[in-house]
Amino acid sequence: MSYIEKNLLEVNKKIGEAALSAGRKADEIKLIAVTKTYGADLINEAIDFGVTDIGENRVQEIMEKYESVKQVRWHLIGHLQKNKVKYIIDKVELIHSVDSVELALEIDKKAKKIDKIQKILLEVNVSGEESKFGIEPERCLDICREISRLENVKILGLMTVAPFTDDETLLGNVFSGLKKLAAEIENENIENVSMDELSMGMTNDFPLAIEKGATMVRVGTGIFGKRDYTK
Ligand SMILES: *Cc1c(COP(=O)(O)O)cnc(C)c1O
Repeated sequence: MSYIEKNLLEVNKKIGEAALSAGRKADEIKLIAVTKTYGADLINEAIDFGVTDIGENRVQEIMEKYESVKQVRWHLIGHLQKNKVKYIIDKVELIHSVDSVELALEIDKKAKKIDKIQKILLEVNVSGEESKFGIEPERCLDICREISRLENVKILGLMTVAPFTDDETLLGNVFSGLKKLAAEIENENIENVSMDELSMGMTNDFPLAIEKGATMVRVGTGIFGKRDYTK
């Protein structure tokens, strides 16, 4: 058995266990295999072993790999600059990292051109770390309302990147915070806005994220091993 197959079995097992212990069904949680820095060969291997959704955090990498990777759903999970929307608009299933009205406007414009309704999540900086992208939680509802008016963009939920820490209390608070914010927005019944998806949890913390309500977990090293950024 290859290490990718073995790791995927392990990750899926943990997803199942975490779902079970939270009283949820495993199929409520989608695994996004995060493929940044890995080449098409490894990605294709993961697809052969059942991966249906992959996440990349750079536009450039999507462009480089797109043609050599087998049929799969692509997710953009990293910061997106407005001037790069045009390169990926025809390629991505879901953009997890929308953090401004201006970016949503640009996505709307480019999606309109190809007659697509682009699904997006709003990235929220729940932890309030200076270094992080994302909308401040207090501004999220207003931004949702503004983006909801765009015809070629559809908000499906929220995303967050938790701090890099082993502090389970802190992590738990971040994940619960995102869930709570989604519930508050849901309560407003904004037309064209759904809060069905919560993208949270990475290799080190996805079981906890599932316990707190994640519907999408983004796992990279847990599947592919340590990343080499020198290449
Ligand atoms: C790299 C990355 C991940 C995956 O991180 P791992 O720790 O390798 O699982 C998840 N989300 C985002 C936004 C990332 O950039």
